[in-house]
Formats: sequence, C-alpha cells, structure tokens
Amino acid sequence: TGPALFPAARGLSTRASQVLSSLGINHAEPVPGVYDGQWRGSGEHLVSVCPATGEELARVVSASPEELHTTLDKAREAYKSFRLVPAPRRGEVLRQIREAIAAKKADLGALVSLEMGKIRSEGAGEVQEIVDILDYGVGLSRMMNGRVVASERPGHSILEIPNPLGVVAVLSAFNFPVAVYGWNLALSFAAGNATIWKPSQTTPLCSIALTKIISEVLERNELPGVLAALVTGAKDVGSAIVESEYVDMVSFTGSEAVGRQVAKTVQSRFGKVLLELGGNNASIIMPDADLSLAVPAVFFGAVGTAGQRCTSTRRLYLHRTIAPEVLSRLETLYASVPPKMGDPLLENTLLGPLHNENAVQIYERALETHKAQHAEILTSSGRYTQLAEGNFVLPVIAVPKHADPGLAGSMWSTETFAPILSVAVFDELEQAIEWNNAVPQGLSSSLWTRDVRHIGQWLGPAGSDTGIVNVNVGTSGAEIGAAFGGNKSTGWGRESGGDAWKQYVRWSAATINFSDAAPLAQGVSFAP
Ligand code: NAD
Repeated sequence: TGPALFPAARGLSTRASQVLSSLGINHAEPVPGVYDGQWRGSGEHLVSVCPATGEELARVVSASPEELHTTLDKAREAYKSFRLVPAPRRGEVLRQIREAIAAKKADLGALVSLEMGKIRSEGAGEVQEIVDILDYGVGLSRMMNGRVVASERPGHSILEIPNPLGVVAVLSAFNFPVAVYGWNLALSFAAGNATIWKPSQTTPLCSIALTKIISEVLERNELPGVLAALVTGAKDVGSAIVESEYVDMVSFTGSEAVGRQVAKTVQSRFGKVLLELGGNNASIIMPDADLSLAVPAVFFGAVGTAGQRCTSTRRLYLHRTIAPEVLSRLETLYASVPPKMGDPLLENTLLGPLHNENAVQIYERALETHKAQHAEILTSSGRYTQLAEGNFVLPVIAVPKHADPGLAGSMWSTETFAPILSVAVFDELEQAIEWNNAVPQGLSSSLWTRDVRHIGQWLGPAGSDTGIVNVNVGTSGAEIGAAFGGNKSTGWGRESGGDAWKQYVRWSAATINFSDAAPLAQGVSFAP
C-alpha cells in the first residue's frame, strides 16, 4: 500500500491550512481573484480542489466582465508611464520580486503540490524556475540591445530599436501554475510592458499567492500594481482577453484545440500571439546508447508529473537489438511505482495524482482505444483504487500493433495528458526519425546514442523537427536559458531564454541622416 494520504477534510487539513495562511490566503471565506492594484472579484466562484484528496482548498471569486474591462483599461494607462522607466530600473524591481518569491519557495512549492498535484520536489522545482527566470530578467534589463546597421547612403545610419510593446496577456495551463507565468512576466516586465495574467481556472490559488508577493514589491517601489494584474476566471474571461484590442500580445499556453481558436481570434485583429501548445514527444534509443542513463530518463519522462508535462515522453522508439533489455528494465521500474504513489507532499512519493476526474477519464479512454486496437499492455493499468480519494492512475507501457503514427485513427498522433508510454521497435535510425516527425506536434524529442554520426543526422536538416532536440537527455523539462517552444501544432513563438524577449517589444528601424544631402535608397532619383 502507498503512503498514507493526509486526511480528506470536512474542514481543511492542517497542513493545507498552514500553507495557505502563510501565503496570505484566508480560505475560510471566498478569496478575491482579481488584482488591478486592489484585490476584488464579483464574478462566478471557482473551486480549487486538491487532486490528491478531493478536498476543497478554497473558493475564489473570479473576474466579472466589468472587472476585466476595468483591469485592461488600468493596465493600458499604467503601461504609458511604465514604458518611460529605464529598463535597468525595471530590472531592479524584478530582482526584488525574485528575492521575495525565493523567500517563500517552500510554501509556494507546497501550494503547487496541493493544488496541481505534482510531487514536492517538482513543486519546489517550479518555484526555482520562476526564481531563475527572474534572475535572467534582471540581467536582460541591461541587455535588451538594438543594433546599428550599415547604411548604403553616405552620412546615414540605421538603428533597430526595441521599445515597450504595451499590454501583454498571459493565459496559462494548469500543469505549470507558477513557472509559465514567470517565463512571461520576467521578459514582459523587463521590456516595459503591463502584464495581465489569466491562469487556469483550476489553479487560481497559485496565481493569487504569487500575485500577492509581486504586488507587495510593486507597492514598495511605488509602481502601479496593475503592471502585474491578475484576472482569474474560466474560458469566457480568457476569450474576452483574446478578443480585446487593448491587448497587444497574447501569450497562450494550453491545449491545441483552444490554441487554434486563440490564434485565429488574435490574428483576425492583427494582434501578436505566442502559442505554447501540446507536445507528443519521442525518445529514440540506439544500440550504442548508455542504457543506465537512457532508461531512468525515459522512466522520469513518461511517469514523472503523472505524464502531465507538455514535454512528457509519450513515444519510445527502440532499436530492435536493445528493445527486450530496455523493456525489461522499464517494466521493473514501473512495477516499483505503486508503493510510491500517493500524497505528493511526502518526501518519498514518486507519482502523484492526475489533476482532475476529467483527466482520469481521458486516460481511461486512451487505454480502451489502445486495447480495442490490439495494443499489448505490458504493465498494470487503470485507476489505482487503493488511493480511492484522489485521481490516481497506474502508469502504463503500451505496444501498439502498428508503429506508423501516420495511420488514420492512430493513438500515436494525439497527446494524451497522462502517464501512457507507447513503444515501437525500429531497425534503422531514418525510420525512427520519420516516426518522430510524423505526428502533428513538434515540441520535444531525444536521441540516445554515443555515435557522432547519428547525432549529426538527428540535429541536421533531415533530423528531428521539434523545438527541443536533445541528445542523451530526456524529453521532459528544460532549463530557462534557452528559448522554449515548439513547431507545427505545438504553435509558434518562444518563451523563456534565448531571443524570446524580442517578441515582447515593438521594433522600429530608424534611418537617420547626419549629412547635408538627402539621397534616396537604391540610387533612385526623383528630381523635379
Ligand atoms: P486548456 O487549453 O484547457 O487551458 C489553457 C488556458 O486557456 C486556461 O487558462 C483556460 O482557462 C483558457 N481557456 C480555455 N478556453 C479558452 C478560450 N476559448 N479562450 C481563451 N482561453 C481559454 O489547457 P490545460 O488543460 O490547462 O493544459 C494542458 C495543455 O497545455 C496540454 O495540451 C499541454 O501540452 C499544454 N501545455 C503546453 C506547454 C508548452 O509550453 N508547449 C506548457 C504547458 C502546458
């Protein structure tokens, strides 16, 4: 049997109660879910539920249409003054936000576990990620450089100038209730924008706790709180933001289905949109791979976070020669999981719950389809009834009958947001790369080999088509330093590091004439 869960509450369990009150959230009453410089909320109530126990953590009062409108209005006004604040000064405020969040790392991490369901070390890791990206934002605030371009005209210079963009809306998913906002806020704030956050309706408490910390820093610095505004709500709040002409860029993280609508709406009003959508990520293991590295990485990628990362490993392609060995090692690891399922906050828990009942049903439907299509199921499967109170499911390895993701109705081509790993066997690397690329999504992929020729093939023009292309590193997770994002139906644009900041500014090309003549470009003459 697994570790004992904390008692499901009629009242709230002591631990949850402590975490919430240490983050300034009074769960005894409906919690205001809108921040525009003041805390308010008069829209519908959102219920935050702990996925491990089913206990109600709190009720949050979301944004009414009027509150959303007012917040957007105020954000636009605040941007007009904030854009004049020098970028290094904005960076200094980010540094203070970083310090304030780091000081609350343990409680914020615990709240991520309580509300989203990920295990303690991953909850803490998510808070570390926002701390890291805020560090990055501090440095960035002194490095958002434009360029001087050589002009073909004598006495002329061309400057490429980045200026603040306006209002950036961040619409985020349930599975990273802290870090994804951080990726956006750090860049958007450093760039001089007002940022408005619409978190997932099932993780409102994480967003409220974070916004409370950030707003105190803004107040201390006499900056308008609405520069880091919060509007909790369901899809109607999300779609109203997406439609608003007041929003210059929508940074959307979520499912492909919703992302498709968001992209169309924002483009129809010529707004900017950044899309971080579903992943369907493959690992390929070659005969020369170090299996002592590859197998645990696949195990973490497929089972970790209960398969609820956009970068989770969902497909595994094994070279025929090592397939039996890899599968036997994976089966042993999978068999060791059930005793380590349970309370995400306990130190030795490996596998927490799925986020909600809907996710369990998606997992069950995917299993049924696998079985109907005659896949071989190598592990125990189904709901983990020993932990009846939460949304616990057993991690599964499935070997579908057909390996080609391009076949109609294939289970290979959709993202199932649950711990189900599909496996196929290949003989040539070209075949595995073709399968890797044959799905609609293009987020993360990984090749396990020691052969530089294979690495060259994998990283080159005929290699993996995903945004994250790893070698001897699993698909799941990423550091903040590189630009993060995907291709194809995973969307477009990049977040976090690299050149991602360039999307959060308005670029101008400015040609300046320092001379006494006014020649036209390309030698054009237009003399009267
Ligand atoms: P979701 O699409 O259901 O919701 C995402 C956000 O969109 C939520 O805030 C939701 O309230 C809002 N929303 C819903 N309908 C809307 C509408 N019509 N208009 C505007 N906003 C709307 O996604 P989810 O279930 O919360 O998250 C899981 C998905 O997110 C997975 O597909 C996962 O791969 C993806 N994801 C991608 C990345 C990435 O970086 N590529 C990162 C994390 C999660």
